[in-house]
Amino acid sequence: MPDRPLSILFVSSEVYPFAKTGGLADVSHALPIALRELGHDVRVMLPKYGNVSERRNRIHEINRLKEVPIAVGETVELATIKSSSMQNPRTKVQAYVTTNFTYFDSKKGLYADPLTGEPYNNDERFIFFDRSVVTTCLLLGWYPDIIHCNAWQTGLIGAYIRTMHTKEFANTRLVFTIHNAVDQGIFPAISLEKTGLPKEIYPRITHAKHLNFTKAGVEFADAITTVSPTYAKEIAKDKVISGGLHSLFRAHHIVGILNGIDTYHWNPKTDPFIPHHFDSTSWKEGKALNKKALRDRLKLPHEEKVPILATIARLGEAKGIPLLVEVLPTLLRENVQIVLLGEGDPSLSATLEKLAAKHPGKLAFIAGFDDELAHLIEAGADMYLMPSLYEPCGLNQMYSMVYGTVPIVRATGGLVDTVEDFDPDTRTGTGFVFRDYAADDFVGAIKRALALYKKPTYWAVLVQNCMSQDFSWSTSARQYEAIYREILARR
Ligand code: ADP
Repeated sequence: MPDRPLSILFVSSEVYPFAKTGGLADVSHALPIALRELGHDVRVMLPKYGNVSERRNRIHEINRLKEVPIAVGETVELATIKSSSMQNPRTKVQAYVTTNFTYFDSKKGLYADPLTGEPYNNDERFIFFDRSVVTTCLLLGWYPDIIHCNAWQTGLIGAYIRTMHTKEFANTRLVFTIHNAVDQGIFPAISLEKTGLPKEIYPRITHAKHLNFTKAGVEFADAITTVSPTYAKEIAKDKVISGGLHSLFRAHHIVGILNGIDTYHWNPKTDPFIPHHFDSTSWKEGKALNKKALRDRLKLPHEEKVPILATIARLGEAKGIPLLVEVLPTLLRENVQIVLLGEGDPSLSATLEKLAAKHPGKLAFIAGFDDELAHLIEAGADMYLMPSLYEPCGLNQMYSMVYGTVPIVRATGGLVDTVEDFDPDTRTGTGFVFRDYAADDFVGAIKRALALYKKPTYWAVLVQNCMSQDFSWSTSARQYEAIYREILARR
């Protein structure tokens, strides 16, 4: 008998194209679509932040889900759950959107004030959101086979289901995916009361005397996954990479499933954001034309033989931006152009702005978040710098490879699982890999790349190796499906 299709509710605090600050949004778009393409009934759920347009995203009301009271501590706020969808030309996935003025609509940022960087009252916001997810299922009378919770913001859903709604969700299984082990959702013990959860379970949702959403997610899940096999091993042993939760992670079985990439939005053959489409047979011309467009846009001089090295990232320690800042003076002495797009730490941003002002025509720094420009950079650059301190999976090294942009990465987390160091003797490999988080090592890898760039025959082999990688979601989506079926088979 063929396996029956599953009903899956995929929950995430950010989903492309509604709301995005990083890779979580890309995954929460592409994985549900890939699962739908495997034949499952998949629906996603997310909050509607103030900067999400209802008109542009075709978000509309659902009769049964208007003004539903939800308790957060002593107060009761009303949630109105609305409906929308996300799609590619082949597939459509239904989306439920939690709306509430106080917690979400009145806030322009996802987690923090964009102007001051000050975090919002995220304990209350995500208690409210998690309860709204459970309430939506109850009101719809829809108890999916699987609720797939992503990142700390969804960490309490399992606790609500397994303590307050045991009967209704008796046949539902929970998957919790760790997208970043350091970002745990930690709040003072006083926030425990706001959850409304029974006191007996406080030890299971508390770590180091604080409410910890990630710990709760892990404790109440039937399966725990993270986004690459190497990162799964790292978080079970490394205190820093695990944000101090290594003992908890070691005590559970955590499966590492590599993220895929959305081959519809991130594809140089079809990408609507790039002016010149190309594939592995036309990459030389394609890259040259996109490079010209990128230089025009950033007012960089057109110098045919000069490679463009790029980075698109949240400005912070995790992505290795301090290390990049450290090597920039050395790098700027080479015959290169450097393009950096990012927002985040204001002091790193200020340093990069100063450096760019000192080196016009050589270093372009664009402060901010710009999806369209990110695509043009991937298409027009020659090399991509990713010196991450840690990296759960990383998407940009994969986007780079399929756009024929050679990644230079540090051997950590998902970068180990996706980039292989190029060996000119065997002509195998897809990039340049360095081990230690140290300026010498990073510069060494960049210099190896620059030397190879001067040998066009070798470079062409390397680019072909990159562009022939298959990072589509189909393999990983099947791995998730296997986990869903395995936990459903458990009694
Ligand atoms: P993380 O989720 O840890 O930030 P990933 O590499 O998994 O890192 O994914 C980052 C995603 O966010 C990529 O799609 C990347 O292009 C995008 N991104 C990051 N910063 C910016 C920015 N400033 N402008 C546009 N896109 C960005």
